[in-house]
Amino acid sequence: LIRFDRVTKRFGAHTVLDALDFTVSAGKHVTLIGPSGSGKTTILRLLMTLLKPDEGTIKVGDAYLTHEEKGGRLIPAGEKHIREVRKNIGMVFQQFNLFPNMKVLRNITEAPVHVLGLGKDEAEERARGLLDLVGLTAHLDKYPTQLSGGQQQRVAIARALAMRPQVLLLDEVTSALDPELVAGVLDVLRDIARTTDITMLCVTHEMSFARDISDDVLMFDAGRVIESGPPEKIFTDPEHERTREFLGAVL
Ligand code: ATP
Repeated sequence: LIRFDRVTKRFGAHTVLDALDFTVSAGKHVTLIGPSGSGKTTILRLLMTLLKPDEGTIKVGDAYLTHEEKGGRLIPAGEKHIREVRKNIGMVFQQFNLFPNMKVLRNITEAPVHVLGLGKDEAEERARGLLDLVGLTAHLDKYPTQLSGGQQQRVAIARALAMRPQVLLLDEVTSALDPELVAGVLDVLRDIARTTDITMLCVTHEMSFARDISDDVLMFDAGRVIESGPPEKIFTDPEHERTREFLGAVL
């Protein structure tokens, strides 16, 4: 469902991703691990089209995110094309980024109504179902600031899912939370991973969570995947010295 083909991203003279290839099949849950600065967040930002690669192509489903096909040729994607492909991708950030001036329910209905053109009633019904899933039905009439960080993050998850994306990107979604709130958010994500067919791409420092939900773990170092495989293999019997060092430092 996601395909990176020789993707290079540079910031000035610094090559953050170096001709990176990787794929994520539909319905899989893939976790990116690796030292700080190895390029994990850059990958998610490329998928959200917050950044553009310098070289290479990125495909989501049948369409390129980076290019569009015209007359049998690939040309750089225009804004309209990018918006269409991006509808398939939902993202939850480290900082929840909820709309502060909107109540919880409206935070969730806003994009389905304005981007997908859903009717208000249908969008609210969908939002109520999702609030039930994330355990926040009692809070739908509150403003974000009236909620704990963990509750806000669960609203952000519901908001991303309300667009019914094929892909959910999770960028260190628990790292801004107080320790006692982390488990509630991870439990919700475990539930979603278990009960839906959504494709997930996560960047996380929570290794036990990565172990629980991942079909595959990709270990990054200096903008390349140096090792990948099922979590049982990567966490217990890594092949690469760098992976052993990294896991030794974080586990
Ligand atoms: P972390 O675990 O710390 O979030 P990461 O693996 O997600 O790290 P990235 O955030 O992808 O790493 O960053 C990779 C490198 O790119 C880092 O060296 C970072 O300083 C650099 N970088 C990221 N964004 C920019 C930018 N907008 N301008 C310049 N350099 C950047």
